[in-house]
Amino acid sequence: MNYVQLEKLGEGTYATVYKGRSRATNEIVALKEIHLDAEEGTPSTAIREISLMKELKHVNIVRLYDVIHTETKLVLIFEYCERDLKKYMDAHGDRGALDPMTVRSFMYQLLRGTAFCHENRVLHRDLKPQNLLINRKGELKLGDFGLARAFGVPVNTFSNEVVTLWYRAPDVLLGSRTYSTSIDVWSCGCIFAEMISGVPLFRGRDNQDQLLHIMRIIGTPDERVIRRIMSESGESQQQPPKQFPRYPKIPFQQVLPKAHPQAIDLLERLLQFDPAKRITPRRRCSTHTSPQARRQYPFLPLALSRLLSLPTPHGHHAAQQQQQQQQQQQQAAQQQAQQHAAQQAQAHAAYLAQAQGMPQYQAPPIPQAQGAPQAMVMPQHQYMTYPQQYAGQR
Ligand code: AMP
Repeated sequence: MNYVQLEKLGEGTYATVYKGRSRATNEIVALKEIHLDAEEGTPSTAIREISLMKELKHVNIVRLYDVIHTETKLVLIFEYCERDLKKYMDAHGDRGALDPMTVRSFMYQLLRGTAFCHENRVLHRDLKPQNLLINRKGELKLGDFGLARAFGVPVNTFSNEVVTLWYRAPDVLLGSRTYSTSIDVWSCGCIFAEMISGVPLFRGRDNQDQLLHIMRIIGTPDERVIRRIMSESGESQQQPPKQFPRYPKIPFQQVLPKAHPQAIDLLERLLQFDPAKRITPRRRCSTHTSPQARRQYPFLPLALSRLLSLPTPHGHHAAQQQQQQQQQQQQAAQQQAQQHAAQQAQAHAAYLAQAQGMPQYQAPPIPQAQGAPQAMVMPQHQYMTYPQQYAGQR
């Protein structure tokens, strides 16, 4: 192999991930080793999915450089990222919660990566903090891509055992098998809330418990919505519709008191119980979209623009620096004026004393200008540099 295998990075559902170094270029990579069943060999769906992944080239999607296929194993060579979002939150968050600027940057990148996949007709189906990788430039990349599907089930049928439970959309929990891009959008909403608060939003133990956790926060939807979603799952047609307690909706502002109103607005659009109402990742409305449909289905660019209308880290930082500089200049000017006035008073008192033949007036010591106070040092994230390509985007 053209790569030297270094330390183990992690263990996935069907693969072990190692750090690796290219013998040719010395570049550090991630080697994902998948042991193959001697009898079954490589599933054809896996090969298809992997070739698809190789074409998914986007800054917010972890790059698959190469695939090495031997009789016993498949090694996927990926671009190396320092850590996943879960570990990042543990290391840099305030009890897991990230600061608003970091949340904004990561959320923007998560939505961009997700939109790119959907535009290319690829569902991730397992978006969760552990599958989002962060490199040292602060770039967030969707990882473990499409492989859940490649290694799990045949291409045309969807299993409802996809997506880690806590990030699983209610339609999937209700047994829907016709879900599409909306399941990834739900997971994005869950990840968004988790970055803000530091804890997963809905932490159910099993399918039913997960649904109840969701309903306790976003409210129990209309029975017709539940019936429609359930009718989309083949088996539930024979079963009587499940009865759920009627929970009222709790405002997200109450659940996440620290969140910016625009973040709450975006969260509302991502975490819609009804998949048809969830924001869609379509880039722009088609000319055939009726005004009513446009109103009904908010579009992801709208979400992105809302997200982007929050102050940019650059703008924010620059504004803060400018404010600090102005304060420093004002303080320095004030001190100079005070010093000058005190010198004047001292000179005048000395003159008077001399003129009146009085002993030399002892003026109090003149306060010396201390120089401008130290600029407040903003805490800087070790990894958090806002990616240049987003600079100035609003
Ligand atoms: P996965 O099977 O993709 O879920 O990978 C298991 C773990 O390995 C992840 O949670 C990461 O900590 C680590 N990992 C996966 N891919 C990479 C990568 N490209 N760079 C660095 N670490 C990775």
